[in-house]
Amino acid sequence: MRLYCPDLPDSGTIELRPEEFNYAKNVLRAKPMDEVLLFDARGKEARGIITRLDRDRFSIQIKEISKNAGKESALGIRLLQGILKGQKMDFVIQKATELGVSEIRPLITGRTQVDIRMRETRKLERWRKIGVEAARQCGRAVAPVMKEPMAFTDFFSPGPGPGGAGEPSEAQKGPGIIFWEKGGPGLKELAKKRFFDFCDGQGSPVEGAEGRYIYLAVGPEGGFSEEEAAQASGNGFYLASLGPRILRAETAAIMAVGLVQFLLGDMG
Ligand code: SAH
Repeated sequence: MRLYCPDLPDSGTIELRPEEFNYAKNVLRAKPMDEVLLFDARGKEARGIITRLDRDRFSIQIKEISKNAGKESALGIRLLQGILKGQKMDFVIQKATELGVSEIRPLITGRTQVDIRMRETRKLERWRKIGVEAARQCGRAVAPVMKEPMAFTDFFSPGPGPGGAGEPSEAQKGPGIIFWEKGGPGLKELAKKRFFDFCDGQGSPVEGAEGRYIYLAVGPEGGFSEEEAAQASGNGFYLASLGPRILRAETAAIMAVGLVQFLLGDMG
């Protein structure tokens, strides 16, 4: 059983946080002498043994630390997701984590239907937690980095980035694809074009593609506007299609990540 422990020490005994304790006790039915796997969601894992189980706490003795569980994709996928209503956003974060994304950035677009500003911090916390829980379930030692929501136009503004004059905008920092139901080639076609230095021009990843990353932008329920699509492609993003049907945003996000993992990442 895997348990989340944000400040995982290298040795000694730890006590679980209340939420994790409840999960371990009531969901996993943990008991003393059970072996557990602890992870800090930033890549550190440890084997441990439950040494003491009280009514509202239990102690775990750390046995062995391991750094990398080998579950991370060599291709860092950074999902730019137009903010979706309520549980749809939660669903996308959970599934994208299972599919191995390394980063999620919620985007406030022209057609975003929710007022994110009102409860931004609480939402961000909730989304982080969903990422950690999904990582726990799927065996990842790393949860995706949950970035602060950002306005679409700011992300794609060619002007100075956060570092001031001379700094590239966020969008210019890496290769990216924007999924657009009104045009653009399919992903297989796009991957053949050798536009990313980790593609070999045949649609397969090149050797030593570690440390490479790619942005994938998926719209909210109402989609991206013509202006947004134009702004993204004007800033170096490639338009791509997910086929002839219009997918719901959640379906599109899952397919986009899954197909890119299949073509260039670790699902092939
Ligand atoms: N504006 C559309 C639906 C948007 S679907 C309408 O209401 O008619 C939500 C998002 O999913 C889109 O912004 C796009 O990023 C993605 N998407 C859905 N179907 C797609 C397709 N066939 N090709 C590419 N992207 C798609």
